[in-house]
Amino acid sequence: MRCDCHIHMVLDGMDWRAAIARHAERVDDTWIRETLNTYRKLGFTYLRDGGDRWGVGRRARELAKDYGITYRTPLAPLCKAGHYGGFIGKRYVNEREYAALVVQVREDGADFIKIMISGLMDFDRFGELTEEGLPANEIRELIHIAHEEGLPVMAHANGARTVEAAAIAGVDSVEHGAYLDEDALQAMVENGTVWVPTLSTIGNLRGRGRFSETAVERILESAQSNVRSFAGMGGLLAPGTDAGAWAVPHGSLTEVPLLEEALGLETESVLDRGITALQRKF
Ligand SMILES: [Zn+2]
Repeated sequence: MRCDCHIHMVLDGMDWRAAIARHAERVDDTWIRETLNTYRKLGFTYLRDGGDRWGVGRRARELAKDYGITYRTPLAPLCKAGHYGGFIGKRYVNEREYAALVVQVREDGADFIKIMISGLMDFDRFGELTEEGLPANEIRELIHIAHEEGLPVMAHANGARTVEAAAIAGVDSVEHGAYLDEDALQAMVENGTVWVPTLSTIGNLRGRGRFSETAVERILESAQSNVRSFAGMGGLLAPGTDAGAWAVPHGSLTEVPLLEEALGLETESVLDRGITALQRKF
């Protein structure tokens, strides 16, 4: 039994524009079935999607039943206009619009709300994010509104202050979580936040020649070191590859070995705890 707690069915690990174009006019069932079959053959029984606005994750959830897979999707991820996420999510400009989208995706059958509250790692420059996170009070409101509608929240979040703010606001899971510090890790431990560090998005870049190898190594080491500290503090960790992201094909088995490099013999018991906590919410 395997699970991947962070995938993007709409993407293919190679070319995001071409991948999205495949489904833009009509969702490509054949492609989804092939992908679900790959997961089934590898023994996956649980997939959690990061969402897309074309209905690919939603269709995958319907078809997943045929493959014995529990599939969770936020439908479209929600992102603030002008910030990271617009290529895949639904945009809002203010809190009122966000609240209306939350109600809409809930009525459309979303299993949870996915928010994008920070930029991405710059894989050529250690320590750099492509943009700052949203202000803490705004993050708190986004999470509060989703919880008021009865839905758990998955947050794409990098950077210590962004993750700390989300954890304090009661976010249910943090995705990626690059460049955390002691306070951010502590906030996640205290609030029972599940951290899905998606190490594959970093580790799978090694030796590919697309980014600075030195930067990629440093980013991975810092993430693994935080994973180790977090587990030592009793934090909840779950495996998610971010399958669909560049160099992370569907059915990737890279995440657990990368977590193992950080957690050693504790890996199985740590992940068991994290997965149980995650699946209780999602
Ligand atoms: Zn993702």
